[in-house]
Amino acid sequence: MQVPFAKPHLTGREGALVAEVIASGWVSQGPKVRAFEEAFAARVGAAEAVATTSCTTALQLALYVMGVGPGDEVIVPSLSFIATANSVWQCGATPVFADIDPDTYNLDPDAAERAITERTKVIMPVHQVGLPADMDRFLDLGARYGIEIVEDAACAIGATYKGRQIGSMGPLACFSLHPRKVITTGEGGMITLNDPQVADRLRKLRAHAMDVSDLARHSAKDVVIESYPERGWNSRMTDMQAQLGLCQLESLDWILQRRRELAERYSAAITHIPSLEAPVEPDYAVRTWQSYCVRVNARLPIGRTDLMRRLLHDGIPTRRGVMTIHEEPAYADATVRLPHSEAAARDVIILPLFPDMTEEQQDYVLERVATHAVAQAA
Ligand SMILES: *Cc1c(COP(=O)(O)O)cnc(C)c1O
Repeated sequence: MQVPFAKPHLTGREGALVAEVIASGWVSQGPKVRAFEEAFAARVGAAEAVATTSCTTALQLALYVMGVGPGDEVIVPSLSFIATANSVWQCGATPVFADIDPDTYNLDPDAAERAITERTKVIMPVHQVGLPADMDRFLDLGARYGIEIVEDAACAIGATYKGRQIGSMGPLACFSLHPRKVITTGEGGMITLNDPQVADRLRKLRAHAMDVSDLARHSAKDVVIESYPERGWNSRMTDMQAQLGLCQLESLDWILQRRRELAERYSAAITHIPSLEAPVEPDYAVRTWQSYCVRVNARLPIGRTDLMRRLLHDGIPTRRGVMTIHEEPAYADATVRLPHSEAAARDVIILPLFPDMTEEQQDYVLERVATHAVAQAA
C-alpha cells in the first residue's frame, strides 16, 4: 500500500466556482478577496481579516505595522518552520531564539521572559502544528514589559485557547493557506485583528501602500488620482484563490473533525507502544491536529531516521518533526543552546494525516509502525 503523507481536502466543486471568477473578468484582488476576508474574520471571531500571499508575508507585514525595524529584536521559538525567523529578518530585525515547553513544543513563556532585552519589540508565539501557545501568559508579558505580541498561527485556524478562538485574542495573528496547513488557497495568508485602523493600513501596505484600492477606483464615479503616502509591498491574493478559500471555509468544521478522529485513533494505538510517545492536548487547548507528531524514546531499537526509512520503504512517507531554526546553516550566527528544542527536533517524527485518510490506510501505518518500533535492529 502507498499512503500519501498529506493531501488537502477538495470536494470537486472548486473548479467550476473558480471558473466563474475567471469568467467574470476580475481575477486579481477584488470582491472575492473581500468576501473571503469577511468570512475568515467571522469564522475566527475577529473584527477584521487582511488577505496576503502567504503566512510569511503576513508575518512580515504584521511585524512592520508593529514598528519592527533594524536594531530591534523579536523573540521567537527556534523549534518552528524557518519562515517564523525569516519574517523577522525581512523587517531588518534580529530573531532571538528561546526554548520550548517539552510537552507542548510551544515557546515557553518563562524562557521568552528571560530573553527580553531593551531592544525587544515583539514576542512571536507560534501555535505549533495547531496547538495553541499559552496566550494569557504571553499577553501578560506583553502588558508588563510594553512589548507587542504577534502570533504565528500558520497551522491554527479553528484552534481554541480557554474557549477563545485563535485569531480573536491577540493584537495580530497570521495564518497560512498553504496546502500543508488546515485549509488552503494554493498559496496564501491571512492576518486577523480587531483594530480597523491597523487593518486599513495593512490593506494599503500589501498593495504598494497606494491610498485607494483597485476595487474603490473601479467603482468611483469620478477620476481618482492615487497617491503613495508611504512605501509598501505587493502581497495581494488573487480573487481565484479567494474563491477557493471560500469553498475551503465551508469544509473547515468537517476537516477539523476528521483530523481529530484520526489523531485520536492514532493516539489510542500509540499509547500501547513503549518506544513511542503520543502528542498531548492540554486542558486549555483544542488543537487542529494539522500534524501528528510522535516522539521516539530510548526504547526504540533503531534510530529515528532508520524508522522513517523503513516506513518509507513500506510506502509510508513521514517527516522529521518540526525543525530547529538555530541549527540550520542559514542561522549559524545564532549561538544559543536550546536543549528542549534540540531534543524535540531530534526525536520526533510526523506520521501521515489528512482529512480523507481512510481507516484502512491508518491501520496499515499503525501496523508497520508497531512492527518497526519493537523489531531488532537489522
Ligand atoms: C507553514 C508555516 C509558515 C509559513 O507559511 P507560508 O504560508 O508557507 O508562508 C510559518 N510559520 C509556521 C509555524 C508554519 O508552519
